[in-house]
Amino acid sequence: MFADLHLHTRFSDGTYSPEEVVAQAQRHGLAAIALTDHDTVEGCDPVGRLCENAGIEFITGTELTAEQAGNEVHLLGYLIDVHQPRLLAELEKFQVVRQQRIREMVERLNRMNVPLEAERVFALANCKAPGRPHVARALVAAGLCGDPDEAFERFLKKNRPAWVPKFKMSAAEAIKLVHEAGGLAVMAHPGLNRVDQVIPDMVEAGLDGIECFHTKHSAPTSEHYLEIAERFDLLVTGGSDCHGSSKGAPVMGTVKLPYRFVEKLKARAAERRTAPANYKVPANP
Ligand code: AMP
Ligand code: ZN
Ligand code: FE
Ligand code: FE
Repeated sequence: MFADLHLHTRFSDGTYSPEEVVAQAQRHGLAAIALTDHDTVEGCDPVGRLCENAGIEFITGTELTAEQAGNEVHLLGYLIDVHQPRLLAELEKFQVVRQQRIREMVERLNRMNVPLEAERVFALANCKAPGRPHVARALVAAGLCGDPDEAFERFLKKNRPAWVPKFKMSAAEAIKLVHEAGGLAVMAHPGLNRVDQVIPDMVEAGLDGIECFHTKHSAPTSEHYLEIAERFDLLVTGGSDCHGSSKGAPVMGTVKLPYRFVEKLKARAAERRTAPANYKVPANP
C-alpha cells in the first residue's frame, strides 16, 4: 500500500479538478492521498468526498510559504481541521496577499511594455490562491511567451524584472497555525531549498516531520533527509508535488510513500490531540 502526500489542484496552481486528481490516484493504485494546495483548504471537502466513494483514504492538508532566518521554507500542514474559523481567516489573509501580488507583477510587466491584464490572470487562475504559474500561463495564452518556463526565466523567477517578493509568515507562526488547527507541520521538499541549517530551529519551534521523498529528490538526497529525520525524531513523509499537466507530464505516481509512514503520521496526530500538554485548565466561572 502506497500514498502520495503532496498534490495540487485547480484550487491553487495545479490543473486537476477534484475528479481528475482522484481518478489519477485510483489509476496509480494509491491507498491514501493528501491535498496540499498553496494557502487554501477549499479542495479538501470535494476531494475528500470523492476519495470516500473511490475507497481511497484522504488526508487534509495545505502548503504554506514561510520564512526561517531569511530563507524561504514551505511547510505542509497535515490532518488539519479544514473548517476551523481561525485557520480559514489566516489563509484568507494570504490569499489577499497573493491577489495583490498578481496585480503588482502585472504592473511591472506593463512597465516593460508587456501588455498583460491582471483580469486575464485572475480569469485563468479562477481560484482564491493565484500564483506565479498562473501569470506564466496567462503570458503564454496571450502569446507573450512561448511556454511557462520562458515566462519564469524572463520575468518571474526570483530577482527577474516582474518578480515581486511575497509576504511570508515565520516558520514558527506557520507551525503554530497548523498545530492550533489540530494538524502536524512538515517541512516540504528540503532538497529543493537546501537550508539544512534552519532545521534545528524549526524543530525547536515544533516541526513534526520532513518530506524525505519528493519527485525532485535524488536517492542520496532522500537518504540524507531520512538521516536528519532519525536524528531529530521527525516524521517522514513523501509526495510527488504533482501540479497536473501544468509543467509537462504529470508526476503523480513517481513517488510512492509506503503506507506505514501514513500510519505513523496519524498516530502522532492522535497522540498530540490527547497529550496532556494540550490540556488547558478551564477558566474560573
Ligand atoms: P508562488 O507561490 O506564486 O511564488 O509560485 C510558486 C510556484 O511556482 C511553485 O508551485 C513552483 O513550482 C513554481 N515555480 C517556481 N519557480 C519556477 C520556475 N523557475 N519554473 C517553473 N515553475 C516555477
Ligand atoms: Zn505550486
Ligand atoms: Fe513547495
Ligand atoms: Fe507543492
